[in-house]
Amino acid sequence: MKNHFGILIFLLLLSACKGSDMEQARTKISARGLAQYVSKLGSDGFMGRKPFTEGEKITVNYLADQLKNIGFEPAFDGNWFQSVPMIEISSRVNGAVTINSNKSQLRLNSPDDIALTSPQTIENIVIKESELVFAGFGIVAPEYLRDDYAGLDVKGKTVVVLINDPGLYTSDSSYFRGREMTYYGRWTYKFEEAARHGAAGVLIIHETEGAGYAYSIPRKKAMTSGFYIQSADSNKTMCSFTGWLSAESSEKIFSKLGYNVADLRKSACNRNFRGFSLSTSISLSINNKITYNSSTNVAGILKGTTRKDECIVYTAHWDHFGLGEKENGDSIYNGAVDNGTSMAWALEIGKSFAALKRRPQRSVMILFPTAEEQGLVGSTYYTEHPVFPATKTLACFNNDLLLPLGRMKDLMITGYGQSDLDSLLEIAAKEQGRYIIKDPDSQTGMFFRSDHFSFAKVGIPSSYARGNLESRKNGKEWTSVMVKDYMTNKYHRPADNYEPDKWDLEGIAEDAKLAFTVGYGISTSTFFPRWNSRSEFANKRTR
Ligand SMILES: [Zn+2]
Repeated sequence: MKNHFGILIFLLLLSACKGSDMEQARTKISARGLAQYVSKLGSDGFMGRKPFTEGEKITVNYLADQLKNIGFEPAFDGNWFQSVPMIEISSRVNGAVTINSNKSQLRLNSPDDIALTSPQTIENIVIKESELVFAGFGIVAPEYLRDDYAGLDVKGKTVVVLINDPGLYTSDSSYFRGREMTYYGRWTYKFEEAARHGAAGVLIIHETEGAGYAYSIPRKKAMTSGFYIQSADSNKTMCSFTGWLSAESSEKIFSKLGYNVADLRKSACNRNFRGFSLSTSISLSINNKITYNSSTNVAGILKGTTRKDECIVYTAHWDHFGLGEKENGDSIYNGAVDNGTSMAWALEIGKSFAALKRRPQRSVMILFPTAEEQGLVGSTYYTEHPVFPATKTLACFNNDLLLPLGRMKDLMITGYGQSDLDSLLEIAAKEQGRYIIKDPDSQTGMFFRSDHFSFAKVGIPSSYARGNLESRKNGKEWTSVMVKDYMTNKYHRPADNYEPDKWDLEGIAEDAKLAFTVGYGISTSTFFPRWNSRSEFANKRTR
């Protein structure tokens, strides 16, 4: 394997030489080309690109047309589209949610104090006095000898848990991964684990650092509908209700019971923490509006020459939030950065592959999954129903939230340390005079938050890499202010618009060239990228 790796590196260096086929093809990637795509994808005409809406039809047809224009073939048996059978559930909480103990009653309003949704395809969910149980971080992790559910019977009860994992709060890198979030820290994991224990409901105590975002994000999610892959059991393997408590309401609940959240968090960080009943209960009622429908993944392939059954894949989700709550007179959630710029990134990479005079031996796929924003639904469905099995899919390069801030000195790798892809990215970054760096905010668990994770889950080495920390022109501080501005004022809000006067797409063009270079290297070699042996995904590739 080492030997192949050496050959690949040699090939990468050689092919990047001036005048080479690869170098020529790579010049097809430009800021202008990116702008053409994103000006469309982020425009009001695409209506916020929400699954099941008119905006979906417009978006998927546009993407298929663009794949065709750049010279790709349909990926799904002559079809550009893969139908993804889904359920849309829109949950409405009836009246107040009440927390009752012997001494007092507390009324909470959704979505301001508590952000509730129900993932079950059942129209009326009525919860009467379900006992609240505090289960620490809600983690069962045998490798850390931790079981927050040990000794607890939570069947039919409501589990209250903390976000993230103990590593974040203790910075102890021998217990979990220090400040870097493990999958145990993700809300999706906590919902899954509570359901495995038969809980009726699960509530996460919101905390901005641990969640990686403000309470406004789950609050908004509670007001928009949720999407799931259709299952035969009405999703009864999930809890009846799931949700978040705002920091303020959590404090209110716990202080009435004689606790405070900070102390509880501290004690939950202990290795020998034990959960306990809060001797209080929750009552609520939810109406679910359920719609069965199917959404669409879009993909194109450029077939390889001698090893066409092997493939590398570039992904960028197409979906966003459609029309929603008005802010500053704007109700269209255009998602120009989330994820218009990344779709443009993928299409520009595709252009370069199609422009090669000598086709790579291996196939290249560009996949635009649906419903990423709803829990990676489209990419999960794709990996369960793939065109190329996991054993023949060498690598996934995904992007999301590519900010138009101009050329960057860094290449920030989210999930750094997981696989061989890091070394290849580093070579390509060096060629551009850039340095690679681990995502400094790895506590937010970004590696588990976009479509590459669906590929990682089935064992395919996956990368999420972009310049995000140091502008070549304006330095680190400026970049951090700009990133913060986006995350605070535009992320998942109607203000995520295409702004040609303010945008500089040169950095995204450079990111695209880099991802093309690495993909070119893999697609023209026999190299088989591996996970590092300590990665939690090292042994997942089974088919
Ligand atoms: Zn996104």
